Amino acid sequence: MYEHDVVVVGAGLAGMRAALAAAQQGADTAIITKVHPVRSHSNAAQGGINAALTDRGDDWEDHAYATVKGSDYLGDQDAIEVMAQEAGAAVIELEHMGVIFSRDETGHLGTRRFGGQERARTFFVADITGQAMLHVLYEQVMKENVRVYEEWFVTSLIMVDGECRGVVAMDIMSGKIEAIRAKSVILCTGGVGRAYEPSTNGLIVTGDGMGLAYPAGAALMDMEMIQYHPTTLKGNGVLITEAARGEGAYLLNSEGDRFMKTYAPNMLELASRDVVSRSEATEIQEGRGVDGCVFLDLRHLGRELIETKLSYINEVALDYMNINLADEPIPIQPGMHYIMGGIKTDVWGATPIPGLYAAGECACVSVHGGNRLGANSLLDTVVFGRRSGEAAAARALERPFGRVSEHAAYLDETRIISLLDRKDNGDSVAKVRLAMGETLNEHLAVFREEQGMQTAAKAIQQLKERYRYMPVKAKGKVFNTALVFALELGFMLDCAETICASGLTRKESRGAHYRTDMPTRDDENWLKHVTCTWSPDGPVVDTIPVTFTRWEPVERTY
Ligand SMILES: Cc1cc2nc3c(=O)[nH]c(=O)nc-3n(C[C@H](O)[C@H](O)[C@H](O)COP(=O)(O)OP(=O)(O)OC[C@H]3O[C@@H](n4cnc5c(N)ncnc54)[C@H](O)[C@@H]3O)c2cc1C
Repeated sequence: MYEHDVVVVGAGLAGMRAALAAAQQGADTAIITKVHPVRSHSNAAQGGINAALTDRGDDWEDHAYATVKGSDYLGDQDAIEVMAQEAGAAVIELEHMGVIFSRDETGHLGTRRFGGQERARTFFVADITGQAMLHVLYEQVMKENVRVYEEWFVTSLIMVDGECRGVVAMDIMSGKIEAIRAKSVILCTGGVGRAYEPSTNGLIVTGDGMGLAYPAGAALMDMEMIQYHPTTLKGNGVLITEAARGEGAYLLNSEGDRFMKTYAPNMLELASRDVVSRSEATEIQEGRGVDGCVFLDLRHLGRELIETKLSYINEVALDYMNINLADEPIPIQPGMHYIMGGIKTDVWGATPIPGLYAAGECACVSVHGGNRLGANSLLDTVVFGRRSGEAAAARALERPFGRVSEHAAYLDETRIISLLDRKDNGDSVAKVRLAMGETLNEHLAVFREEQGMQTAAKAIQQLKERYRYMPVKAKGKVFNTALVFALELGFMLDCAETICASGLTRKESRGAHYRTDMPTRDDENWLKHVTCTWSPDGPVVDTIPVTFTRWEPVERTY
């Protein structure tokens, strides 16, 4: 059996930052990742990372307040304060590690303005910020001799006496299933974007960590809070970064009108994402769209700016639509992008399960509440990644390894063998996955209502039933990606079930959860998080109060 003091599942920004922190505390640390580390979805982050740097007269409290307001008062304010206070140091630290942040004309770190914020406080590397950060963190992790189990897929958590004592994982290359013992496990597995179709997320973003923690007894919180990004490409859902609007791009309807002036007269295109997505969807519904889209217009920004600061999205527009952003507006629509909810943790990444931590998009601290501000997720990954790494290492260093049976991997081995043994019944992972994605995209999107969510919940139940008999066509052991897809689908279906259950529970509109049948925010009854815990009969839903420190809820306008 392999063993490490701290095992981090995931090599995105949260996982690498967590592993670095744990290793620097002196813990023997390993990362397990189903893809090569720099292929993690963090690599796709374009726009930037928020921080209020005091040397330019910015103030963490302004950033915290913008985040609280952005969250529609559902974010826990103690956690938001921690994140905003630690942001400046986190960005400077990344700079010192070697992230080549773009600079302004004076040679200082440059900023751009992102939605829902009065000030420009988003630091960036052109429109490849995630890639730049991820590569630098990977170097740091290698420098600390962190062991990386690359292309290993975690299939379950090892739970003994209510404590997490490691993970079971499959080496995808050989198909071998191994137990890896640990004193602390940190889940940093990212979001669940691919439960929706389409989505801006990479194909590997399948909610595995949430799906692992949930049956082990951890609560999934705020799962109804799904962010639709206002600017995804027509049809395929590829992201066009908010940085385009941050640099000054306009949103136009079919009449050529900058419609955001109706919905957010002060912040216009840079209102919060939920607000902008809802405005676009309204324009489209009321007949002022074209083919289900509105337009993003960058022409007035000029070719030079587009080719230097937004060159990646210009390439995307050329490749997919044959449009040069300097010449033509591009058709865009709101598309699934991010989940605010996830595994409930405290500000040290700890779950109530001893030995189990979570950070990054798979976790819900909660700093994003009902709606995440653009560029706050990268910040979340590094701040709470570091904190969870430190806390997990501290726990590990003060205790011996817990006892783990030699047969810890046995159950997963038999489960996987039985999956491979199933007879072909004409069904397939691809079909179930597509049906799930389209169901969620139809009923738990920018707008929701009771009937639709009930329909979705029922459809997901039926898909779960089909999943129980679903065959895996490829039977081999070596690099069986069909098997990996099947396991991922299981995690996504569990997440989908909690998304529906949480959506049906919240009887109001808040943030990204906008119910056409209950269109107002109800602070009297719903300043609460919705949690789901696993039971054999489906999610057990509960609520817990939001933590307030200093900002009382007021009406949210932009
Ligand atoms: C296109 C796009 C652009 C974005 N742009 C921005 C931006 O500009 N600013 C911003 O703040 N946010 C942005 N976001 C959001 C942000 O990038 C993500 O929320 C964040 O990077 C998630 O990081 P993470 O470390 O939590 O997870 P990820 O980067 O998704 O990494 C997950 C890791 O977990 C591993 N893993 C998962 N399941 C398993 C398993 N079963 N076994 C083993 N390993 C597993 C994967 O291999 C991977 O290494 C963007 C998101 C997208 C999709």
